[in-house]
Amino acid sequence: MDKSLIKLKVEERTIDESAKPLLERTLEEGIETAWDRLEKQQPQCGFGQLGLCCNRCSMGPCRIDPFEKDGPKRGVCGADADLIVARNLLDDLVTGAAAHSDHGREVVETLLMTAEGKSQGYEILDKEKLYTVAKEIGITTEGRNDTDIAKDIALSFLEEYGTIKNSIDLSKRAPEPTQDKWAKAGILPRSVDREIVEAMHRIHMGVGADYANILLHGLRASLSDGWGGSMMATEVSDILFGTPEIKESWVNLGTLKEDMVNIVLHGHNPVLSEMVVKAVKEQEMVDLAKQKGAKGINLVGMCCTGNELLMRRGIPIAGNLLNQELALATGAVDVMIIDYQCIFPSITQVASCFHTKIVSTSEKSKVPGAVHMEFHPETAYDTAKNIVKLAIETYEQRNPDRVKIPAKPVKMMAGFSVEAIKKALGGTFQPLIDAIANGSIKGAVGMVGCNNPKIKQDYGHVTLGKELIKRNILVVETGCAAIASGKAGLLLPEAADLAGDGLKSVCHALGIPPVLHMGSCVDCSRILVLAAELAKALNVGIDQLPLAGAAPEWYSQKAVSIASYFVASGVYTVLGLPPKIFGSKNVIDLLTSGLNDVVGATYAVEPGPVAAADLIEKHIDSKRKDLGI
Ligand code: SF4
Ligand code: SF4
Repeated sequence: MDKSLIKLKVEERTIDESAKPLLERTLEEGIETAWDRLEKQQPQCGFGQLGLCCNRCSMGPCRIDPFEKDGPKRGVCGADADLIVARNLLDDLVTGAAAHSDHGREVVETLLMTAEGKSQGYEILDKEKLYTVAKEIGITTEGRNDTDIAKDIALSFLEEYGTIKNSIDLSKRAPEPTQDKWAKAGILPRSVDREIVEAMHRIHMGVGADYANILLHGLRASLSDGWGGSMMATEVSDILFGTPEIKESWVNLGTLKEDMVNIVLHGHNPVLSEMVVKAVKEQEMVDLAKQKGAKGINLVGMCCTGNELLMRRGIPIAGNLLNQELALATGAVDVMIIDYQCIFPSITQVASCFHTKIVSTSEKSKVPGAVHMEFHPETAYDTAKNIVKLAIETYEQRNPDRVKIPAKPVKMMAGFSVEAIKKALGGTFQPLIDAIANGSIKGAVGMVGCNNPKIKQDYGHVTLGKELIKRNILVVETGCAAIASGKAGLLLPEAADLAGDGLKSVCHALGIPPVLHMGSCVDCSRILVLAAELAKALNVGIDQLPLAGAAPEWYSQKAVSIASYFVASGVYTVLGLPPKIFGSKNVIDLLTSGLNDVVGATYAVEPGPVAAADLIEKHIDSKRKDLGI
């Protein structure tokens, strides 16, 4: 490919400086990445983009033609555009809710096995949280040992999945006015699996035919994720591995090291990766790596497994979704360990251009071409050690002439759990409430979500983040959004200089960045808890707070679930890419305005980050006015 065309493509594809030289390499060497595959998919199907195709049963596939007067307006079964769009959206949403919640279930099962003495290498690290959660869900703690309490928590949480209790315990963390809205709308979440299974039932041909009823169930299912599956994942991970505290670390592809064995941990679930962290510290492993000529073992994260390790252990993070193939293209990765979610099926192809081995570990997530070393809590530590040994052996096959580590890592601050934020504020949220009341901080935005090759990598996150802090709006982030901000230097206290005067002075006084990293995708539940704490302190519903959500570069069905539980919880949420709903005006109207009467919040779509900041600021100003501040 012509050099000037390569330069042009690189500049169009990313703002991540550590990614650019590697993108150049992939284009020069013909190593295919997500951006190339997106190009080959053009033009993408217009019916699909509008949400107007249905392949739900074998009378189809069907599609609605919104353009031709005489084109089909109903599928073979009679479903119209509203129904087809609503069913497709619910399908996406519950796929995301299922992914989060199934991850949560695995963490809870690990807690149970640990309490029963059946797991290998795990312990209960945060006893304070163990006791807090136990008390909250009505488990007796007095005179009992930790493992008995942990067992009861695990059993009680497992019941939240397929329960006959008819309510989710942690959803009671929401302020009462918010719970009242859910009850009135008939969307109080009953249990995680039930809402997901019921959604799949409702979208079967010949069940739900009312688009609004289908979408309302979507809100209910999303609540069972946000206040259920995801929240349990967060809480139990904290109990097992510790609640995050504020710490410094490093980010970008420069975290890979030329002279060390490089292991990348990619995916979402911390149960395996925590064991790998333990294994690489063993002297036997370090000695083995040195014997093979390496200076040591370098562990880095990718996507949300990376965020989990960063938040709790300060392990550096190599990048977000679109960095996964580029990390492999450094030629410096010896082993990439994957668990599940957001793992491109193509990674084994990229790895095959180098010496790199991909190690899959979940029975649910096998990838052709990967070495499968199945992970089970009973043998977790042995498996982790075996994988580390494989990485050390693979290091010997590395070709130093093919190694290209493109940049120096950027420093960042992470670990802003709700507990850590409270501690930084002096043990109470009052200083934050005061700062919001006096206008130093206008409001807060939860920015979440992914990368998507349809948007220049990180541009949406970073531009919107900068616009918001400039307007004295505090930004809290999770997932790939937080990694993007880290790479751009926004997760450092010095970034407060880019903020408006009010936010700047608060950040300087507390020594914190204006953009706070709150964790992985399931940790969007931490954002819900923070919002609930603020609402309870003010005795209002979450929908009355000067808050908003944003997902500027989302791609995933999990992001659909997150955006939906934000909205259902009362948080106005702006998406940077349109969901596939534009084939139905009725669905658009309901989601962008009708829901205000139901849950006090709506979705909006705005691809331009500055215009998105305008929308968010206007919304925050109106909430402030309503609160009389
Ligand atoms: S459910 Fe209806 S619209 Fe969908 S494929 Fe079957 S017949 Fe077609
Ligand atoms: S933010 Fe999106 S892309 Fe990133 S790890 Fe989470 S779901 Fe995957």
